[in-house]
Amino acid sequence: AKDQGRGCYAYFSEDQTLAARERIALETRLRRAIEQGELRVFYQPQMDIESGRIVGAEALVRWQDPIEELIPPLRFIPIAEETGLILEIGAWVLRETCRQGRLWLDAGLPPLTLAVNVSPQQFRRGDISALVATALNETGFPAEYLELEMTESGLLENQDNVMALLNKLRSQGIRLAIDDFGTGFSSLAYLKHFPLDVLKIDKSFIDDIPNLQDDMEIAATIIAMGHILGFKVLAEGVETPEQLAFLREKKCDSYQGYIKSPPVPAEAFALLLREQGFE
Ligand code: C2E
Ligand code: CA
Ligand code: CA
Ligand code: CA
Repeated sequence: AKDQGRGCYAYFSEDQTLAARERIALETRLRRAIEQGELRVFYQPQMDIESGRIVGAEALVRWQDPIEELIPPLRFIPIAEETGLILEIGAWVLRETCRQGRLWLDAGLPPLTLAVNVSPQQFRRGDISALVATALNETGFPAEYLELEMTESGLLENQDNVMALLNKLRSQGIRLAIDDFGTGFSSLAYLKHFPLDVLKIDKSFIDDIPNLQDDMEIAATIIAMGHILGFKVLAEGVETPEQLAFLREKKCDSYQGYIKSPPVPAEAFALLLREQGFE
């Protein structure tokens, strides 16, 4: 680096320093945010495609910074992954979701599957099974209504351990879902070996329905093959009636998307549930 001249080197290093400084600043703020209880869980409804009724929700974390507005996860999850803070955040979201789910049950709302995202790091650490046990025990939320969402990349690393871990989680009575399906490198043929309950078709395959023939064929294939392998299939990011009609025709099981609701705070979600009435 010396040979390239001082100016050049200094410039490069200043840039690096700035980025590093910003990262450290954000990390520090995030660490404080966790301590001060500034994280929130929002809930996005998941509907049965036949009846249109809400049958579940995905828990999605937000950061309510007192100065800035609500900070979306894409602005802090990557940093959290890098720094390991995701372990704390993930554990908190899991517990908070189970706590909220128990409150809804106690309030007489119908039971719903609550899906929580699990980062690859949480998987690598391997104590997710203990975390789940603790969250369920401490809150009294029933295991059968808890679902964990993990991405393909989380499964592809470390295959032997992952299989044992998934089996263990399944034996605890919870459900397992593959998130963003179709964006990773795993095939359905490969996934059939895993004890999974739900495939979530990534939003990117839904976005261009009904305009892109390829995407429609991919979505239809994932649904059909997913069913052959014994999985339920959920479509993510459904925004239009045309997309919904297509998915219904292809016998997709459930969906999630702005067509019904974005992720909302717990109180607003409970209102959505009360609005649809109890059967
Ligand atoms: P994801 O798990 O794929 O979550 C779905 C994302 O799609 C959510 O973004 C949701 O708001 C958005 N979405 C749902 N329906 C629609 C739609 O119809 N149109 C559009 N344009 N978007 C839709 P969000 O909440 O910003 O979360 C982004 C990502 O952050 C998540 O993607 C997930 O990877 C990560 N994330 C969120 N919460 C957690 C968490 O508690 N733990 C971990 N590890 N990751 C999380
Ligand atoms: Ca997810
Ligand atoms: Ca997803
Ligand atoms: Ca996605």
